[in-house]
Amino acid sequence: MTMTDTPRSALVLGAGIIGTASALRLAQAGVATTLIDWQAPGAGASSGNAGSISEESIVPIALPGMLAQVPGWLLDPTGPLHVRWRYLPRAAPWLARWLLASRIRTVERSSAALRGLLHGAVDEYHDLLGPQEAARLIRRNGQLILWQSDRQSRSERAGHDLRERHGVAMRWLSAGEIGELEPALAPVFARGLLLERHGHLVDPLATVQALAARFAAAGGTLRKARVAALERGPDGDTRVVLEGGEILQADRYVLSAGAWSVRLAKALGLRIPLDTERGYHVTLKGLGGLCTRPIMHGDKAFIVTQMAMGLRVAGTVEIAGTDAPADYRRAELLLEHARAMFRDLPDAPTEHWMGCRPSLPDSLPVIDRMRTAPDVVLAFGHGHLGMTGAPATARMVRDLVLGRRVNADISAFGAGRFDHWRS
Ligand SMILES: Cc1cc2nc3c(=O)[nH]c(=O)nc-3n(C[C@H](O)[C@H](O)[C@H](O)COP(=O)(O)OP(=O)(O)OC[C@H]3O[C@@H](n4cnc5c(N)ncnc54)[C@H](O)[C@@H]3O)c2cc1C
Repeated sequence: MTMTDTPRSALVLGAGIIGTASALRLAQAGVATTLIDWQAPGAGASSGNAGSISEESIVPIALPGMLAQVPGWLLDPTGPLHVRWRYLPRAAPWLARWLLASRIRTVERSSAALRGLLHGAVDEYHDLLGPQEAARLIRRNGQLILWQSDRQSRSERAGHDLRERHGVAMRWLSAGEIGELEPALAPVFARGLLLERHGHLVDPLATVQALAARFAAAGGTLRKARVAALERGPDGDTRVVLEGGEILQADRYVLSAGAWSVRLAKALGLRIPLDTERGYHVTLKGLGGLCTRPIMHGDKAFIVTQMAMGLRVAGTVEIAGTDAPADYRRAELLLEHARAMFRDLPDAPTEHWMGCRPSLPDSLPVIDRMRTAPDVVLAFGHGHLGMTGAPATARMVRDLVLGRRVNADISAFGAGRFDHWRS
């Protein structure tokens, strides 16, 4: 099998939103596809997120002016960013690159690339899910970002600048207008922004499950197994080694194991600064009717979303690696913040969750063919926007696997941008 032959089979490693959507697109294109995960589809970061389809979120996480804010956040245990000190030596190179990514040139490049990746995500979800599941799982009422403070920080201003220049559909709101749009909110917000094109998923886990069901219906195979390594066998061919020693081979491979991706392909020489920004949620089960669109607290950087199973409060960034135990005090903190933003948030049974965002310092994923193993397509690192970026990523992965021209500019997602990285 050469790289110019049309591939007949593919192994997709990792059944989060990225792997599952990609596997579905491959199966629909007639490729015999096996989707491998040691957990059920969607059990990773893709289950517990805020569900926002933020198709105009073209503002990267690291922004000019942030360097000045970071020390304050780190010292504030209730702040949006927390670093576990024991993990700091391992995280330091990633954090340094993250701060470097706040330079305006990198920000502009990331912003333009995000525009291409995220635009049209709501419509593409409709196509991926089909009309019935889309009607059950997707809402489109926009998204609010609300601020208590009157003063705009330098990084906030940089974000607004980017939105204006990219022609994002948005409307500034006064305190009164916020109250009219979302009457359950307490009158604590001074100003707000309505991002009109955004949508949301009322159940992110059910969304992945629905895509997995469509994948199976399209002839795809789901395999429950833990991948030990993606490597080159003695004959020089790429292969997947499962835990227990079983070896699997196919014409093409897709590496979409979220925050765990790079460690699976170490043997192929993959060196990319992938780390995790862990996030938390608390879901108030059974609560409904409190808001009609995702509401982001602009000062505290978390999102409240009305989901099918209750009201979900999700966010925060914890730098602690994939393996440290969860610290659910961060989820409790989210609940405290949420209580302060509603007039009356009734008591309800709570569910706590922690998930590992797969994050690269420049807020962009890697979507690329691996140079040292061109039969491997890399698709990971979507950070805060994987639910939104999944439909376009799946299309790009399909085209890379099939060797077709990708109908989008993917140069900013190249793995080569980290060529000088040593880990
Ligand atoms: C609190 C929070 C809020 C968020 N809110 C939003 C939002 O509102 N909108 C948005 O667009 N994004 C949001 N995100 C980001 C989004 O959830 C992620 O970017 C996305 O889920 C990443 O998907 P993934 O498929 O790459 O990774 P994952 O969903 O983590 O999937 C990776 C899969 O790989 C599997 N895997 C790992 N190792 C192995 C192995 N050795 N063998 C087999 N399988 C393996 C795992 O079991 C897992 O199922 C949020 C994230 C968090 C944490």
